Amino acid sequence: MRTALIAGNWKMNGSLALVEDFARTFAEARLPAVEVALMVPAPYLDAARRAFDDTPLAVGAQTLHPEAKGAFTGEVSGDMLIESGARYVLVGHSERRNLFHEDDAAVLARVRAALTVGLTPILCVGESLEEREAERTEAVVLGQVMAVFDALEPDERVRVIIAYEPVWAIGTGRTATPEQAQAVHAAIRARLGEYDATLAEDLRLLYGGSMKAANATELLTQPDIDGGLVGGASLQVDDFLAICQSAG
Ligand code: 13P
Repeated sequence: MRTALIAGNWKMNGSLALVEDFARTFAEARLPAVEVALMVPAPYLDAARRAFDDTPLAVGAQTLHPEAKGAFTGEVSGDMLIESGARYVLVGHSERRNLFHEDDAAVLARVRAALTVGLTPILCVGESLEEREAERTEAVVLGQVMAVFDALEPDERVRVIIAYEPVWAIGTGRTATPEQAQAVHAAIRARLGEYDATLAEDLRLLYGGSMKAANATELLTQPDIDGGLVGGASLQVDDFLAICQSAG
């Protein structure tokens, strides 16, 4: 049985006041059997870890540098994230791939760095609109998955979470239909089955891209969708709570 995970990605948004808001609301929230995590900007990690102590909220980061330390001005290592309270880290988000030019090799290096320090990497994959229209969705998405999974050992693969985020659905209000999302999730799971049947059965696949309270249930009830990676709606505590309540 895969436990649903709802992960919020604040991107470069939010504030310490919003951290406190989430802590107050989630301390009293009634949730189904679901795990919940918030990927906050790195400077808020420590405050979030403390504020979320008596809540079901776990804390995650949005990126990490592949090296453990060194002359990389402005960057943050996996160990630093762990020390600041992170349990999860996003890797390969389309904004990192597109705006910060992280290719598959850079994504793999970050997944490895996360695993080395004991962070759970949430590997983000997804096709652009152009790629979907050219009917290359599966090739692109499975290619991104294999670029990482082919290089990992079996005991590393089981520690990864995958988030399918069609780039055309991110921040656009244009959600993939439950059928579109399910089809890609099923294709990813089938590909994972070529490594190992248990891996395919156990690995959690999240959907991301304009998920909100109004469409969460129909997405989260698809057989191969095990949770959500929520951008915009994770900045509104009531919306995010409603999504969490519709999972599980
Ligand atoms: P939106 O939910 O704002 O579309 O963002 C999705 C996303 O990129 C989460 O990582």
